Amino acid sequence: MDCLYIVVPCYNEQEVIRETTKRLTEKLCDLINNNIISNASKIMYVDDGSKDNTYSIIKELNQENQYVSGVKLAHNRGHQNALVAGLETAKNYADIIISMDCDLQDDINAIDEMIEKYKSGCDIVYGVRNSRKKDTAFKRNTAQAFYKMMNFMGAEVVYNHADYRLMSKRAVEGLCEYKEVNLFLRGIVPMIGYKTDIVYYERGERFAGESKYPLKKMINFALDGITSLSIKPIRLILLLGTMIFAVSIIMLIYFLVIYFMGKTVQGWTSIAISVWAIGGLQLLAIGVIGEYLGKIYLETKQRPRYIIEEILI
Ligand code: UDP
Ligand code: MG
Repeated sequence: MDCLYIVVPCYNEQEVIRETTKRLTEKLCDLINNNIISNASKIMYVDDGSKDNTYSIIKELNQENQYVSGVKLAHNRGHQNALVAGLETAKNYADIIISMDCDLQDDINAIDEMIEKYKSGCDIVYGVRNSRKKDTAFKRNTAQAFYKMMNFMGAEVVYNHADYRLMSKRAVEGLCEYKEVNLFLRGIVPMIGYKTDIVYYERGERFAGESKYPLKKMINFALDGITSLSIKPIRLILLLGTMIFAVSIIMLIYFLVIYFMGKTVQGWTSIAISVWAIGGLQLLAIGVIGEYLGKIYLETKQRPRYIIEEILI
């Protein structure tokens, strides 16, 4: 029978982790009793270098609950890397791997449907939010803008899908073949291929504690996503440069004509404005190119995505 591992990255989640464990254990027992998954199935918490008691709680839970396992990262590496660490570790034990957040925002009842789809032949099943009623207006709008901008900039992601998804063992093995250090899961997973499907679910509120994704992290996340999946921003700069060059040729002709007609005027304003505009544009262009250069720099170093300090099975 298939063994299921539920991978849950946690960063400072001491307020929620016990409740999450209670609910996920119930779910696992349900599935095991119905002979859907094997008794070796587990929850796998990945402690992403938390500064609070998260890891000691995971340790306790691992002692008292046979369905709890844990991975401790040596340092805080961020949600995506913690997730990759969990997936790569879990694939050594499991046939089916589901990733979800620790805060119970993802409806765990969608797991049944995900497994059904897996049994009917899907290797990847995306959990997609059917509404965002319970998010704050700010979170909803920024998230919506995020998906729109990602798609506009050429990074194709599944709409309203966060990192709540089921992957088969071979899909995770496929993922491990992507050696780039900066792994943007939502963009890479659709590239793996295999048969995929979608399960809709209602996204709830965070059970307790605060969001670990403040605006600054979200913006960084979006920029990372765009620059690691697409070179469209550089294309846009090229386009802009070409357009400005075309305009400047027209202007050149215009200036020459005026010059030969002897009507040269003291156009201080227009010159000042164009100096600022071109200057700003150049800085922007250099910034975008620098962003990619930085990526290349980081990739060539081939640093490890994470370092595992301890595994509790
Ligand atoms: N998380 C993590 N490392 C980090 C930040 C967040 O592992 O550096 C985890 C966090 O514990 C949670 C998940 O990523 O399980 C999503 O974070 P959160 O719920 O705070 O984000 P939001 O739902 O507000 O976007
Ligand atoms: Mg959350």
